[in-house]
Formats: sequence, C-alpha cells, structure tokens
Amino acid sequence: MLPCKKCNSCNTGIFETCDNYDYLGSRSDGGFAEYVRVPVWNLVPIADNVSFEEAAMAEPTAVALHALRRAGVEVGDTVVIYGPGTIGMLIAQWARAWGAKKVLLVGTDLNNFEFIESLGFYDYFNASKGDPIKWVMEQTGGKGADVAMEAVGAAVTAGNCLESVCKGGKVVFVGNPHGDFTFPQNTYWQILRKQLSIYGTWNSRYDNTPKSDWGIVVDAMASGAVKVKPLITQTFSLEEMDKGLEIMKDHTEFYSKVMIVND
Ligand SMILES: [Zn+2]
Repeated sequence: MLPCKKCNSCNTGIFETCDNYDYLGSRSDGGFAEYVRVPVWNLVPIADNVSFEEAAMAEPTAVALHALRRAGVEVGDTVVIYGPGTIGMLIAQWARAWGAKKVLLVGTDLNNFEFIESLGFYDYFNASKGDPIKWVMEQTGGKGADVAMEAVGAAVTAGNCLESVCKGGKVVFVGNPHGDFTFPQNTYWQILRKQLSIYGTWNSRYDNTPKSDWGIVVDAMASGAVKVKPLITQTFSLEEMDKGLEIMKDHTEFYSKVMIVND
C-alpha cells in the first residue's frame, strides 16, 4: 500500500483509511513482472525460514489480523466466523493464536469442509442444511459467541452475526457487500437490545513498526503460529498464468489462493 502521507488518516498513522492511497498490484501495475520498483518504506524483512510463497501471503494474512484486532478478541473468547474462505480461515487461525477458546465456522455447500478440517478446524456448520444461529447457541451453552466475524458480505450472514453473539458482544464486518442490505426488524433490534459493538475493518495496518499488522504477520510466519502454506491450493508459472486466472474466474476447481511463481 502506498498511502498519500498528506491526509488526516496518514497524519495520525492510520494509513489503512488514507483518503487517496495507491496499491502496487491493484491500483497501479506491479507484481506480475520480473522487477517491481518499491519504496524503501514498504519493504518488510522476512526471516530465512519464510519462503517467498509464504511471504506473498502477507497481505491477506494482515487483512485477517487487522479484522480480528479491530474487535479486540480476548483470551477465552468464543469467535464465530461466517464465511470460511481464505480470509475467514486466516481469521480462524489468528483467533486461535490470539487465545480464543473456541473457533466456530459457518459455511455453505460452496465451502470445502475437507479443506477446513485439513487446517485443523472441526467446529463447523453447513448453513445450507440447518439453522446456524441455533447451532452457535448449542455450542455456547445458549449464551452466544463473544465475537462474530462477517466474512461473506451478504445481508443474511450479517444478520446471522447479530443473532449469534452474546449480550455485549462484538460483530466485525469484513466481507465486501454484494448488494443492498436489509434486516428484519427483530434482527436489527439485536444491536440495541444486546448493546452490541459493531466494527468495520479496511485494509490492514502497515507502519513499519514491529507491532503493526505486517510486523506481527511476518513474525507469526517465522514462528509457525499461523500457517499460510496450506492455503496456497494451486501454483502456476508466469507462462501458465492464464490457467490460474481461469480457475478463479470460472471456479472450475476448488481454490483458496492461486499463486503465480516466477521460477
Ligand atoms: Zn493519506
């Protein structure tokens, strides 16, 4: 991320909400090239035991950490994650590393539950086959989760998050919205009656210090606290890049992260 370093957000070090940021690899070209010109400020040193493939996962891993830190998850909390995709599974790993007692995952038929198990998570529920709120209540002794993470971007899952948390609980909206959101009156009422705290999250915190999201990410990769390698489901050379893009565009096979490696 290339913040403008002029706006109020930048002046207070909250670069993730910069008014006018640029990105190497999305807003500006970069990444799919032999050489990329990067400002020194953006360079993050990685440990010798972290591969380039793992390091290339730093951005989504930092986005997931940022979302979790927004809520301030505490040791012993139960965290429910709606949407066990790449970001959802990274949030799950962070929640566990952060001391969550229980990490509950809710997905649909579209999710690969074998893949979720391969990452070491077994408390998941297929919402295509039943009521996820009832399941979360069963898993929490009728209390509800302490924190709910919405990693889908749909009104139904957003509403389910509000219904799934306990009184005084926290809900973080992570997923980019796929359309307008409307809530049933009783669902909206959960925010008021349970005195919920609602958080938004955007990008990740990068500021060149060890406690910024990116600093914690590279440390966690080195120590093995967070495992990103299993999330790389396909790897292609630069010449085969089209194949990787087609899998993502047409969903011809299951993927989490498709990696382009210049070897
Ligand atoms: Zn700025």
